Amino acid sequence: MADAIYLDNNATTAVAPEVREAMMPYLTDLYGNPSSIHTFGGQVMKEVDRARGQLADLLGCHPTEVIFTSCGTESDNTAITSALECHPDRRHVITTRVEHPAVRNLCRTLAKGDRGRPAYRLTEIPVDADGEFDMAAFGNALDDDTAVVSCMWANNETGVLFPVQDIGALCRDRGIPFHTDAVQAVGKIPMTLSDLPIDMLSVSGHKLHAPKGVGALYVRRGTRFSPLMLGGHQEASRRGGTEAVAQIVALGKAAELAKANLGKENTEVRAMRDRLENGLLQSTPGARVNGRRDLRLPNTSNISFEYVEGEAILLMLDQHGICASSGSACTTGSLEPSHVLRAMGVPFTAAHGSIRFSLSVYNTMEEMETVLAVLPPIIRRLREISPFGRQDSPAAAAGPQP
Ligand code: PLP
Repeated sequence: MADAIYLDNNATTAVAPEVREAMMPYLTDLYGNPSSIHTFGGQVMKEVDRARGQLADLLGCHPTEVIFTSCGTESDNTAITSALECHPDRRHVITTRVEHPAVRNLCRTLAKGDRGRPAYRLTEIPVDADGEFDMAAFGNALDDDTAVVSCMWANNETGVLFPVQDIGALCRDRGIPFHTDAVQAVGKIPMTLSDLPIDMLSVSGHKLHAPKGVGALYVRRGTRFSPLMLGGHQEASRRGGTEAVAQIVALGKAAELAKANLGKENTEVRAMRDRLENGLLQSTPGARVNGRRDLRLPNTSNISFEYVEGEAILLMLDQHGICASSGSACTTGSLEPSHVLRAMGVPFTAAHGSIRFSLSVYNTMEEMETVLAVLPPIIRRLREISPFGRQDSPAAAAGPQP
């Protein structure tokens, strides 16, 4: 969308022009199969390995520790099921209350004993009102029966960062595999996996300016591993299926760009996010930030505008060409606040009016000023017509619904 102000980068990102250019030859002339013996295939294999090196460079690990997959969801599923298969005698899974459905739904399915597996015991570690990980509850939950711990690095809705180093250290002490879903963290904060007690880590291409349909899983050398996709010998027999060469080349290039832009994420992107957030807090009564402000990704701001519907805000922003997302999902006809905000205990009237702004290096400060001019009048107008908007209204007096 050429003229849109795109503030929904945690949902997906634009493919960077350099990435598009890098992948194009593999969609046209260089269509060889990397596994082929002939030179035509061999030259393509070299590019797959180059991409592996580029991604390893961003992650701070060895290239042989990178397995290409089709998406973040596949990486999450591979990591967790691999740990379970490698520890068949253990029946306890630990995750958190605020994971993305890619981890949450898998873990809940495991707890039900679906898909021919006996049921696992599942512990979902709580978070506090700031979205912070409950380390004490985690320490108490770990036991000798724990087959895997899966805790995200950065939350997709609030940007709140979890202490993966401390979580991983406790797991390592007890010989428990630790996986982190770092789909939102990779490319936004620096990381050196060789120095961290993380056994497996998930990456998604489309969150860092590569196209959809490619991801990666980091598996630390020495970690016991069992593939999800059985097939050919691709990816050193760790993920069957002919490599999606163009997408892999794209992810490699995107990783190279992300590494070069890490400084900008922490300066320019952070400054734009803070300008937007502070401007909205100052201009709009009843606005509050969800998630601990000093422990977040630099690009994410989740703001609740009390007594207004988030979906209504989004629709009106959309009329001005501004793309963001809300913290509630329209399920079964009712607007259910997100499980993340519910886990943080955000009150009903605030959770319903929550908006997530997620920026990228392609945004500008001018765009932030446009949003600051457009959004406060939208909130005022919606409050005028909302049954909860006027503090003296019977609906407001009745308080939140159950
Ligand atoms: N994990 C997190 C934290 C995410 O935000 C997402 C996507 O929104 C995923 C996993 C899933 O990634 P993909 O869309 O590549 O399957």
